[in-house]
Amino acid sequence: MVAAACLTLGAVHVLVWFRNREAIANLMFSLLAAGTAGMAACELLMAHAQTTAGYGHWLRLFQVAVWLVFLALAGFIHFHLRAWRPGLAWIACLVRTAALVLNFCTGINLNYREITSLQHVPFLGGTAAVASGVPNPAMAVGQFGLVILLVYVAGAAVKTWQRGDRRGALLVGAGTVFFVFAGTVQALLVFWGFVATPISASLFFAGMLAAMSFELSSDLLRAARVDRELRQREVQLRDSEERVNLAAESAGVGFWSLNPATGSFWTPPRTLELLGFAPSIALDLETFLRAVHPDDRERVSETVREALRSRQPARVEYRVVQPDGSVRRMVSLGRSRLDEQGRLSGLMGVSIEVTSLRMTEEALTDARTLTQAVFDSVPGLLYLYTQDGAMVRWNKKHEELTGYSAEELARMNLTDWFSEEDLAPVRREWEKIFTEGRTTTEILLRRKDGTKVPCLATGVRVELEGKPHMVGIAMDITQRKRLEEESKRHFQELAHVSRVAIMGELTASLAHELNQPLGAILRNAETAGILLRRDPPDLEELRAIVADICRDDHRASDVIERLRDLLKQKCLQPDRLEAGTLIGETVSLVRSEAVEHHVRLTTAILPGLPPVMGDRVQLQQVLLNLLVNAFDAVKEQPDSRRHVLITARDAGEGRVELGVQDSGAGIRAEDLPRLFDSFFTRKASGLGMGLSICRTIVEAHGGRIRAENNPDGGATFSFTLPAAAANEPA
Ligand code: ADP
Repeated sequence: MVAAACLTLGAVHVLVWFRNREAIANLMFSLLAAGTAGMAACELLMAHAQTTAGYGHWLRLFQVAVWLVFLALAGFIHFHLRAWRPGLAWIACLVRTAALVLNFCTGINLNYREITSLQHVPFLGGTAAVASGVPNPAMAVGQFGLVILLVYVAGAAVKTWQRGDRRGALLVGAGTVFFVFAGTVQALLVFWGFVATPISASLFFAGMLAAMSFELSSDLLRAARVDRELRQREVQLRDSEERVNLAAESAGVGFWSLNPATGSFWTPPRTLELLGFAPSIALDLETFLRAVHPDDRERVSETVREALRSRQPARVEYRVVQPDGSVRRMVSLGRSRLDEQGRLSGLMGVSIEVTSLRMTEEALTDARTLTQAVFDSVPGLLYLYTQDGAMVRWNKKHEELTGYSAEELARMNLTDWFSEEDLAPVRREWEKIFTEGRTTTEILLRRKDGTKVPCLATGVRVELEGKPHMVGIAMDITQRKRLEEESKRHFQELAHVSRVAIMGELTASLAHELNQPLGAILRNAETAGILLRRDPPDLEELRAIVADICRDDHRASDVIERLRDLLKQKCLQPDRLEAGTLIGETVSLVRSEAVEHHVRLTTAILPGLPPVMGDRVQLQQVLLNLLVNAFDAVKEQPDSRRHVLITARDAGEGRVELGVQDSGAGIRAEDLPRLFDSFFTRKASGLGMGLSICRTIVEAHGGRIRAENNPDGGATFSFTLPAAAANEPA
């Protein structure tokens, strides 16, 4: 049974060794098991021996099995524990081999010089032969070898323990020492005749084998587990390799490694494809450099040399020329690889295609350059603000116009451009941009030196990166403003000249207008003189005369006052004016003219008209102009048909309309479109400026002027003026 068990165990481990020739410990274990099986067989045959010669024969063969066990055990301990002085094992083996030689050349066998008798003793329910005789002193050689072996095993067990493998030390080391020692002691007691039992050392060795087998099988289990883990890792590794490849492929990345000794590359087909080579080519450095664009070749070659020399990570961007002549832009990153001794073993890295990235970058740079050029070419200020008022982008003109440097402009906020009093309207327009989308307004921009520039500014709401912004242009309108002022001044001068001209025309009738009250004053003064000479003077009469004198004087001074106003060069003074008063004052200046030319001058002023806002002198000038023209128009008519009517009516929508209607020949149809143009006249001595000035004045007051022919003959010139709002100052 012991032999069968040992052989079974041995067969298992010889198979392990057969599969893995490096597992010498397993081979040793198999030999040990075979030897133990041999020992068990010999022990059985000895137990059944009938003669002393037969017993001696089997005992001699038993020693052969023991020798095999001895050597295999030394080998097993050495290969399994690999712990301690193998020399000692060699010595033990040599001594044991010497003992084997003595087994064959001294006595009957190593144990007996002579076997004198056999006795059959009861054993395990049967009988077994036990020998007695003269022990062979050579047996001591074998026992000496055994002691050396046990020392070797014990030493190896201690070392194994110290190394931390306590289980191995106990099972293999201590187990071996225990079972070998016990088996040997039992055999010695029998051989030296102290006990009469059959030799059963194989039983102890079988115990030792069981302990070793347990240890080895745990090794096997461990190996199986490691194997399983390895397979799992392999699967994981393959998975992650596939993932890396997939990621590399989709990102346009190719792996490579360069052997500096041979100059050859290891490259997966993907890398070759990326660089534009056939997938079957064996790529080397020279072939690769030939494909690099000639302008980049030297730089790439130098980078490779430098990376190999310095062993530092390297990066190079270059172009590769494809077989079809097209160019790809690549970036390669490389890193030196060192072997275990720290020697350079290669350069490995990745190559990435960046063609479209670079093209996009270039397109972006171009677009940015173009936008900047457009920005800078604008003659005004071009700006982009966030809704918080922070200036994001601006053109060069800002620096020129405002005196701020680019660094200062980068910190500017919308509010920094305006003084406190100019800010409120700007804020209103700012709100409008973000609620209504756009605005155009005049602003007063404050320069760095504190002076202000009038600008016409636009602002449009624009959504950038999901946030509202304002983009716009501001044009410096200083020049325009100056021209406007100048033309206003010119106009006023012209209007003044025109007024003076009308006054010139009216001089005779105005003199007459003044003559009347002056004559009346004279006559009244003379009458007063006569009355004063009477005794007693008629005081009542005198009082009435003085009152008349005062009234006439006022009348004369009123005319003079109005004349002075008209002749004075004044700037625009808007006032709250009653249409009736305006008409009355003007009529007083032309009444004599009308009388002189037999013109019937009437007025039709509707009651309850709202006042209008305007400059009294300018509006009188308009009326005067229209009246003088009307007088000119009716002069051609017979005296009885000379009629001019001045009207004032409510034109609705908060407007008051004043009109001058005459009974002249009317306006020629072809003249109607150009009537209000400057220098248009049909009169021999006319200037053609009167109606043009009238239109400018009326439009400056927010009104409209028009001319039309009356159905029953003659023309009507009328103009509207906006009624003054209730809260407008008088
Ligand atoms: P001027 O009186 O110096 O000619 P105006 O601008 O006042 O300049 O008038 C331009 C022209 O319009 C006149 O020459 C005349 O032909 C025409 N015009 C003006 N008022 C009347 C009117 N009431 N009836 C007919 N034609 C008129």
